[in-house]
Amino acid sequence: MTNALQGRRVSVIGAGIGGLTAAIALARRGAEVTVLEQAPQLSDVGAGIQISANAVRVLDALGLAPALETQALRNTGVHLHDQRGQPVLRMDLLRHRPQARFLVIHRPRLIQVLEQAARQAGVTIRLDQRVQSPPDGLVIAADGLKSPMRQLLNGQQVPFFTGQSAWRATIPDAGAGPAIAQVFMGPGRHLVSYPLAHGLRNIVAVVERRDWQDEGWSHADDPDNLRAAFAAFGSPVSGWLEQVEDVSIWGLFRHPVAARWHDDRLALLGDAAHPTLPFLAQGAGMAIEDAWTVAACLDADPDTRAALARYQAVRQPRVTRIVQTANDNARNYHLQGAKRRVAHGVLRMADRFAPRLMPGRFDWLYDYDPVTDCP
Ligand code: FAD
Repeated sequence: MTNALQGRRVSVIGAGIGGLTAAIALARRGAEVTVLEQAPQLSDVGAGIQISANAVRVLDALGLAPALETQALRNTGVHLHDQRGQPVLRMDLLRHRPQARFLVIHRPRLIQVLEQAARQAGVTIRLDQRVQSPPDGLVIAADGLKSPMRQLLNGQQVPFFTGQSAWRATIPDAGAGPAIAQVFMGPGRHLVSYPLAHGLRNIVAVVERRDWQDEGWSHADDPDNLRAAFAAFGSPVSGWLEQVEDVSIWGLFRHPVAARWHDDRLALLGDAAHPTLPFLAQGAGMAIEDAWTVAACLDADPDTRAALARYQAVRQPRVTRIVQTANDNARNYHLQGAKRRVAHGVLRMADRFAPRLMPGRFDWLYDYDPVTDCP
């Protein structure tokens, strides 16, 4: 450890999940951090998010466990069903990974926890700052999906529309019973739902639909369109959808992982480097992992270019695998006809006779510890 970050000035562009986590990690290692955020206030879309154990390890290492305890629920399982609500596969997280914590949380509450921790660590947050070119000094660009800094390093890249659109909504939830992420799979569509703390339930519903092309997150839609798309789904989906009053829709696009993550003083982080489809619930998780690793690399090596090269070398293979696995899940959830019957049959057999088989397929993802497995 060289403590190369001690007293060093760092600008972080973007006060999303990745930018705020990076700011805390850098400040904890002694850097003087300023976060520049384009929005006039810190908030986030009113949706839920799953944070899996690999990323929770970073949040714990940054001392956020007590704050998260009051704001998040522990996710105890992932259950797959067909569209009639019949079970296909149950992954019991408490049984298969008792030491690992998987959380579900309302995004604005996660941002609140990160903002408070950042301020306590001495980070300055400046709002209403739309950054179009990198400020002086060392810069971490966590400026999201449409990152101008990614473009600066990699040129303009055109994303590829997957032919899928997604709705997201929250509904009231009485909160009885354990927090389980439930996935309901039908031909050409699926719906994911889990409870959040503080009386809310999150819903994300995806359909194959060629006519929607916009990638923004906050286009309002008529809840009846969502209900119509999932009219063939039985209980509990039908009951949840009855309660939806406000819903947003957006198009799902595939982006290649950026080839170039850094120069000699600027580094990309999170969605700016590797936007992903939401089918593995790892976009924020990857941003949180990046945040720890970039701070650790910069602290370990006073040669900034070498430190940033190390950061990219550590992170790129892992995020590429995660993004590819999320792409594959998109196909698996939406199988039709005979393929679907065979796949569900295989999963039901695995559930019955080899319950560790499916959770074990993701050991590489969830058992990774960015805190000890990186430089
Ligand atoms: P963002 O959160 O997008 O933050 C970027 C920030 O930069 C914003 O605050 C923005 O205002 C600011 N900014 C942008 N441009 C500029 C500029 N020029 N100047 C200054 N500021 C700027 N991930 C999970 O891990 N688990 C999940 O369960 C999950 N569910 C999801 C569900 C949905 C419906 C969606 C859409 C995504 C989901 N994700 C999930 C993905 C996750 O939300 C993103 O990957 C994550 O938010 C990326 O964080 P980020 O900090 O890189 O970018």
